[in-house]
Amino acid sequence: METFTGKGVYGAVAIGKISIFKRREVSVKRNHVTDTEGEKARLAVAKELAVKQLQEIYEKALKEVGEENARIFETHMLMIEDEDYNDSIRNIIETQKVNAEYAVAVTSDHFAEMFRAMDDTYMRERAADVQDISNRIIQNLDSGQNKNGMGDHKVIICADDLAPSETVLLDKDKVLAFVTAYGSSNSHTAILARNMNIPAIISVGGEFLNAVHDGDEAIVDGFTGEIFLNPDSETVERMGKKQQEDEEKKKLLLKLKGKENITIDGTSIKIFANIGGVDNIGSVIVNDAGGIGLFRSEFLYLESSDFPTEDEQFAAYKKVLESMAGKKVIIRTLDIGADKQVGYFGLEKEENPALGYRAIRICLTRPEIFKTQLRALYRASAYGDLGIMFPMITSVSELETIFHICDEVKSGLRTDGIEYDENTELGIMIETPAAALISDRLAPMVDFFSVGTNDLTQYTLACDRQNSKIESFCDTHHEAILRLIEMSAENAHKNGAWIGICGELAADTALTETFLRMGIDELSVSPSFVLKVRDTVRSIDLR
Ligand code: PEP
Ligand code: MG
Repeated sequence: METFTGKGVYGAVAIGKISIFKRREVSVKRNHVTDTEGEKARLAVAKELAVKQLQEIYEKALKEVGEENARIFETHMLMIEDEDYNDSIRNIIETQKVNAEYAVAVTSDHFAEMFRAMDDTYMRERAADVQDISNRIIQNLDSGQNKNGMGDHKVIICADDLAPSETVLLDKDKVLAFVTAYGSSNSHTAILARNMNIPAIISVGGEFLNAVHDGDEAIVDGFTGEIFLNPDSETVERMGKKQQEDEEKKKLLLKLKGKENITIDGTSIKIFANIGGVDNIGSVIVNDAGGIGLFRSEFLYLESSDFPTEDEQFAAYKKVLESMAGKKVIIRTLDIGADKQVGYFGLEKEENPALGYRAIRICLTRPEIFKTQLRALYRASAYGDLGIMFPMITSVSELETIFHICDEVKSGLRTDGIEYDENTELGIMIETPAAALISDRLAPMVDFFSVGTNDLTQYTLACDRQNSKIESFCDTHHEAILRLIEMSAENAHKNGAWIGICGELAADTALTETFLRMGIDELSVSPSFVLKVRDTVRSIDLR
């Protein structure tokens, strides 16, 4: 048995087999083939399909994001037909007698290298495009395979790190736990693990990846951050007991279902849940959340291979609202960028992505995308109690522009005779120090604030939330953060707005009393934390 220790980001125990996460680029194998003509025929079919897919994407993009942004897909179609590119693939198949996937991957690397070495910036950027089209062809070539080779059993996923776009594509029903060599506790993978109620350990270190193999037996202890590889019988027994005790404790919390979130002295607070998609609703209901305080709508985009249409979005939002049967549902508009990258957005690589082109900045500069989402949201507002929330706000003028666009969207719906709720609440995330500092100006403009402590912490303490090396500097209880929250709460209440917290700090029960004393109206936490926070609230006496 070998033991490794990292940082547990969700307390639970998982016992099972390891599955090493394989990125597409490393999963392409070199196979010897005899039938090179057959390989070339497979390639032709995969290429034809890729062109068809790109044509569809191009047409959709043309409608939704305009000609300029759609042009990239036209470029991709031209690149697929490029003579040099195709000659290279065919040559490799014929001369090396290898499978088409491998020939495409080698050609892709070769062309990408060539583009990267060019002086011209435009040409250098084509490196990512050639990799993109090659990945599409490879995907079409082996589309019959299991998603990331996960097989039929539940497994412990091990990786160096996982990007949100990678985590969303995993088959969630097959994941017992996440273990990553790197990563940080505020990363979206950690958040996703909490949303899914599965143990996760991050920052176990590179040596762990060298020691672990596919199919190894392992036990993950999300409480202590330990992972036991090929555990001995004593550890299996001890951890089995721990797992059982934990499950019993969680069952005990279920007794709090239906109870009020009220302190001993009679102060009450709302406890809502954070979700990433329609799939999480079951957990919200089981854990008796009073509503949804944050629906990270960008996961709809991350799960999709193309811009989700207005109708697709409308169907998802409507489903969430209807499932919540009249309870409040706050849907945050697209918060893409930084660590949440989506290929089809064609975002450029940036030096400082967290400070870069992300969230509302994308929506305000690509209004076609924003308007499609707002139209879907307003259409869904007729089916429940919707609140729309805007991320990464830093100024009054941003909010003025947003409201102007909302008015345009509503006016379009009226013209089309489509029903929507005129009283839909509008709110903003307080996740930049700027928003907190001008909360006296922003509060009169909105119905509510929701504090995003994950980003507020990163921007206030100048600590990259993705960087595990500086986690010890990232004190989430720092006085500066608490002061910004308190200031925002005072300004919200002075101006008739309500305030919630939807960052991970909302579930930190060491701060529940502090938040209650600040007059925070709502805490929105991962579904599995709802009852734990309720338990804490009920034990507090503010007198
Ligand atoms: C936050 O920043 O606290 C937040 C809730 O948003 P996200 O974690 O999705 O950036
Ligand atoms: Mg945020």
